[in-house]
Amino acid sequence: MSPVIPITSVASASGGCSDAPVLRERGQREVFCGLTGIIWLHRKIQDAFFLVVGSRTCAHLIQSAAGVMIFAEPRFATAIIDERDLAGLADVNEELDRVVTRLLTRRPEIKLLFLVGSCPSEVIKLDLSRAASRLSRHFSPEVRVLNYSGSGIETTFTQGEDACLAALVPSLPATSADAPPSLLVVGALADVVEDQFARLFEQLGLHGVRFLPPRHAHELPAVGPDTRFLLAQPFLADTARALEERGAQRLAAPFPLGAEGTSRWLQAATRAFGIADEVFERITAPGRARAAAALARHRLQLAGKRVFFFPDSQLEIPIARFLSRELDMQLTEVGSPYLHRQHLAEELALLPEGTTLSEGQHVEKQLDRCRAAQPDIVVCGLGLANPLEAEGFTTKWSIELVFTPIHGYDQAGDLAELFTRPLLRRTKLAA
Ligand code: SF4
Repeated sequence: MSPVIPITSVASASGGCSDAPVLRERGQREVFCGLTGIIWLHRKIQDAFFLVVGSRTCAHLIQSAAGVMIFAEPRFATAIIDERDLAGLADVNEELDRVVTRLLTRRPEIKLLFLVGSCPSEVIKLDLSRAASRLSRHFSPEVRVLNYSGSGIETTFTQGEDACLAALVPSLPATSADAPPSLLVVGALADVVEDQFARLFEQLGLHGVRFLPPRHAHELPAVGPDTRFLLAQPFLADTARALEERGAQRLAAPFPLGAEGTSRWLQAATRAFGIADEVFERITAPGRARAAAALARHRLQLAGKRVFFFPDSQLEIPIARFLSRELDMQLTEVGSPYLHRQHLAEELALLPEGTTLSEGQHVEKQLDRCRAAQPDIVVCGLGLANPLEAEGFTTKWSIELVFTPIHGYDQAGDLAELFTRPLLRRTKLAA
């Protein structure tokens, strides 16, 4: 890799909605909890196992959301805290040790075990970090045991990934003192997208780019003061903080959603590593052209359509930027559960001036504003989609934005299609 040069932000982080007022709301919320992250994380880290320490409700949530795997051995399960545990009649730690021992004896392919806390484990103040250290000592070096919380108290569903990756950071090896500067991409991406980005970085002259989370427990990337990292997802505040505490530096960039976001995200890396803009232009030209062709078809359907975002995935602001700038959609309200001003600075600068932004949720008030705005499409959580459809609104489940590969040039068309499809379906139903 080339020597690193001082970091500059590729997108200007001013203008647009940089200083726009944000409507802050606190009230009833309609969101999934952080356990949901297990559904995509267990596919990503192929030798990890997620053991939720929770109730039957938690078990039902992930089983119904992930689908019960009949043919393969699942890599998640729930250790159920029952009434005896809640009443303090049983030693939960002893039971947990028994469950983990049985699991790891039966499943020797597991190399990384996450004990995932839940609302019930938090209510009984079960110290999962002590349990994880105890079990890690017992099962190392074959298995590393870590813990994080997926509880739904005051969190939203994408924070499960943030908590999981932040728990991994202390286990990352340190870079050696003479190691050249390196680039780390942070945030779970579909394997196909990760492979595309890895190829692009190689072609751009950025060799040895690593990804967090890795696909296998033994592939943990090293981190240190020479590490520069790009966030691939906007919901990784704790992970970014943990990496910064290890000396790594975040490259400020918009997120790689849509052709523009992908270009600016890649260019933040090439500029930080001193790669000439001509190289960037030449290598990314085919990808940009493919994305432009794919988006042109969708723009015909989407231009001028009005979209309203309920706060749910924390992807709302980058997606709104993409819909507005690349598909000419109009933004009525863009709600996000948390608005991380620093991580979203480049995104906010690209949003059209005057966009209504809201943070947090007061579902009743937001429903009223949505009804008043009469948008063509509403992006919301599953809990709100059916009632809104019943009222005649066209909806898009925000959770699909997390489950579908949407990052990068070759997925820009698929991302647009997530919005075209429900609108076309509504048109056909009305015909
Ligand atoms: S962690 Fe909390 S919110 Fe999530 S399923 Fe369990 S009880 Fe429900």
